[in-house]
Amino acid sequence: MIKAIVLTKDNDRFAAGVRDIGADELRANTAEADVTVAVEFSTVNYKDALALTNAAPVVRRWPMVAGIDAAGTVLESADPRFAAGDKVVLNGWGVGEQHWGGLAQRARFRGDWLVSLPTALSTRQAMAIGTAGYTAMLCCLALQEQGVVPGAGDILVTGAAGGVGSIAVSILADWGYRVVASTGRSAEANYLKELGASAVIDRAELSAPGKPLQKERWAGAVDAVGSHTLANVCAQTRYGGVVTACGLAQGMDFPATVAPFILRGVRLIGVDSVMCPASKRELAWQRLAADLDRTKLDAVTMEIGLARAIAIAPDLLAGKVRGRVVVNVHA
Ligand code: NDP
Repeated sequence: MIKAIVLTKDNDRFAAGVRDIGADELRANTAEADVTVAVEFSTVNYKDALALTNAAPVVRRWPMVAGIDAAGTVLESADPRFAAGDKVVLNGWGVGEQHWGGLAQRARFRGDWLVSLPTALSTRQAMAIGTAGYTAMLCCLALQEQGVVPGAGDILVTGAAGGVGSIAVSILADWGYRVVASTGRSAEANYLKELGASAVIDRAELSAPGKPLQKERWAGAVDAVGSHTLANVCAQTRYGGVVTACGLAQGMDFPATVAPFILRGVRLIGVDSVMCPASKRELAWQRLAADLDRTKLDAVTMEIGLARAIAIAPDLLAGKVRGRVVVNVHA
């Protein structure tokens, strides 16, 4: 028997709880999988919190083992790329949505979905990073690929005290960019400065409807918030600047005009972690292993056990959780 967070829906009644699952039940519900993983750590991302509270239709199949991320050790593999004892990390691919997920002591995945864990990272560190941190790296790499260099000007990070934001601030500052962090939590200003932010602004400056073109401020931006914030970020981005959009913490809408794009040549780059191709994932994980400051990673991370993952989800959605939540699935 293994323990897992199981989400159920019976006659529209949703429930989330820690349950014992047998090996046969796991195998029967993961017929598409060819690698069995002893999970050591998982995490609670924004999407996990939506699933754990049923606040949005993340889960496509019931019952579902929650968890869009996992890190652990391969127990057995029918995929020749992996063997027992290998350390692996999994992010996305519909896991925790349509395929049984990582908030469990054991999981079965397709080898195609797995990334070999870089040796410089422990499974705990991998889940302290999680989808949020890996997405932050995808955003930072996209800024680089688009030619935004350190010294080009200020880089704005929105939702800065959250998971994506905290890790984006840390990476960009360490890469030599001047980072401006936008947060609704003024009490976290010191935390953000310790991660490397040069300045902290109140997210209220960005969250209300604004003019189509505003004073040019940003050479680049990482936006985890969407809605009016993203529209204002685009309207404040300097000529030729780059905005990476990965999140919707304020809303899924994008109430903008084309003015920044057609009058200032601003580029809006969408970032998706879920179906991101393997080669890009591997690069992101290699860069995280090489570049992410472990002291800062520790500073953004809190550790909890499986049962607490359910309890913390509403706080995470309410923007009350700072940084990253790593889940020790054996605690
Ligand atoms: P967190 O909950 O950790 O952080 C979100 C942050 O957004 C909060 O901490 C808060 O930051 C800010 N925020 C919350 N509510 C609002 C609001 N109403 N208006 C403005 N800002 C708000 O989540 P994550 O960092 O894990 O994820 C951030 C977003 O990125 C989510 O929408 C998530 O779905 C998305 N995401 C997308 C991925 C992809 O593949 N595209 C992958 C991973 C995440 P503060 O307190 O500093 O203001």
